[in-house]
Amino acid sequence: MNQHTRFNLPICLAVEEDAFFRSDEIIKRYIPEIIGQKTLIISEEFLIGIYQEKIGEISRDFGGAEIYAMDGASFDEAVAIAKKVCVEDIKVIIGIGGGRVLDTAKYAAHISKAVYICMPTSLSNDSLASPFAVLETYGKARKTLDCKIPTAIIVDTNMIVNAPQEQTLSGIGDTIAKHTALFDWKLAAEKGSERIDDFAYALSRMSYDSVYHCNQQDMKSRVFIRILSRALVMGGLAMEIAGSSRPCSGSEHLFAHAIEEHYTDIKITHGLAVAMGSIPACIFQGQDPSGLVSFFRTHGLKTDPMAYGIDEEMFADIWEKARTVRPGRITILDQVPTDRVQLSEIYKRMREEA
Ligand SMILES: [Zn+2]
Repeated sequence: MNQHTRFNLPICLAVEEDAFFRSDEIIKRYIPEIIGQKTLIISEEFLIGIYQEKIGEISRDFGGAEIYAMDGASFDEAVAIAKKVCVEDIKVIIGIGGGRVLDTAKYAAHISKAVYICMPTSLSNDSLASPFAVLETYGKARKTLDCKIPTAIIVDTNMIVNAPQEQTLSGIGDTIAKHTALFDWKLAAEKGSERIDDFAYALSRMSYDSVYHCNQQDMKSRVFIRILSRALVMGGLAMEIAGSSRPCSGSEHLFAHAIEEHYTDIKITHGLAVAMGSIPACIFQGQDPSGLVSFFRTHGLKTDPMAYGIDEEMFADIWEKARTVRPGRITILDQVPTDRVQLSEIYKRMREEA
């Protein structure tokens, strides 16, 4: 296979102030052939209410596109949307929303082979440009499904500045987690279970560096939002190039998956869970976590487990479950034995330092 056909890249990545008011002009610059094609806008009821004006204008700009309020981020919903797209000869899907909407729209576009335009209303994780969609399969059980990345990504910095702060913090957490993820990826490669793709590695490292070493620390500034948007997109593209989530997901993600799958009552976003997991992961890896700790503190990102109702016993159990939540995925957890004394020390330290 030709080297260059192994992966796809989006044709358009626009990160601009008020971009949602000019989305048709932006698309016209990059992919003029899709203007005038039958388009479906996918969002959620409450977002359609909040952003009535913007979504209404986007609909008009795309030839009176139908606005579809999706029911839930499930496999069945994505398939139902894909069916509608195929039956009604719709050629373009625009997803407007957070992770749930974007994953559902991305998968619906993947199945129906429609062009997919991704328009995030918040930056909570790196799934916006990733080749995966996390959807509910049976009941609340979720699965990560392979899919095509978006053709166009349009980020409206004004929109993100006004999104709930917790969403942006979550996006920061998912970016900073790449530090421990990349360590684990290298480790897995040394064990012969993975192959490092240097370009994907560099891209993910740069994504992390751009946020970690950013001089602008005001999360509400447009400069920071632009940097974070690009960092999250680059993380997604690193996964596309590597053909796996390894450049962005290591033992800190196993910790988050263990919460998501075994402690469904804990209310914590994905990005905040991986941020919390990255501190112990760093320690297991023999790295000094103090840089991460002070970064999180500077940004007001809470990593005290108790802030999310995680007591010491649960904390230890989550790490135990993290070992088995993705069998075959080699990380530092395969190298370090369970040490309840060490976990207890880490827990106390995280409570004190947060
Ligand atoms: Zn993640």
